[in-house]
Amino acid sequence: MKNKSINNYNSNINLTKHPKVKGLKVYDGINNFSISWLNKLGYCEYQLYLEHLKGITAPDTKSMKKGTQEHQKLEDNFKAHATPATLEETIEISHEEKTITREMFIISKKYGIRGFIDEIWMTPENIVIIDDKPGKRAYKSQIDQIRAYCLAFKDTTKDPRPIIGALRQRGTPNIFYKENFDETNQYNIEQTIKRMHSLLKGEKPFMHTKNPNKCKSCRFNTQCQYSSKGEKV
Ligand code: SF4
Repeated sequence: MKNKSINNYNSNINLTKHPKVKGLKVYDGINNFSISWLNKLGYCEYQLYLEHLKGITAPDTKSMKKGTQEHQKLEDNFKAHATPATLEETIEISHEEKTITREMFIISKKYGIRGFIDEIWMTPENIVIIDDKPGKRAYKSQIDQIRAYCLAFKDTTKDPRPIIGALRQRGTPNIFYKENFDETNQYNIEQTIKRMHSLLKGEKPFMHTKNPNKCKSCRFNTQCQYSSKGEKV
């Protein structure tokens, strides 16, 4: 097994800021959003509207701050035992021997998505794409995220090996969800990504959740007109 720190993937990629949507980028004339936004989309579309179209800010929650720290710790530990390599070298080695890569930047121009994949196991038989999460229950929004990483990886590397998407409890070896990235899963995530692009282009309205429990934990609940706790913006 070899730990590889991929060092060449984001060179020569020219991303520009979208003029109206905060955090949205444009890559060769095509809108490109962060795959992590799919998590917000699944939680409440209106949250995305408030944060990225209205430009409302809210402090990070305690669990977000904790997550960032734990993430950094894992990354630092990994780097201490990894050797730098290009993506092409890592793929080549992995046909003979398992490689592990962390925090690999991936971008798909075709689908207009980008992000950092927490961990990738490339083995002679398959590719396993892992996203670390704080809990051990697989929510649809997290599954969407992992599918989008699989899609971006498949689209950009064209690697023919089967791809498996997995969710792992952060800081542990516990993989609590995994699935084959098959045609059905690919179709479903393509539809979700299309919806996101339509929302960001203003072609469809952002829907708000009707689940009061979500509003209770939402960072924007004091600024959202649809929260039972909030004041009108
Ligand atoms: S308060 Fe509720 S409706 Fe408003 S953005 Fe948050 S989750 Fe959505």
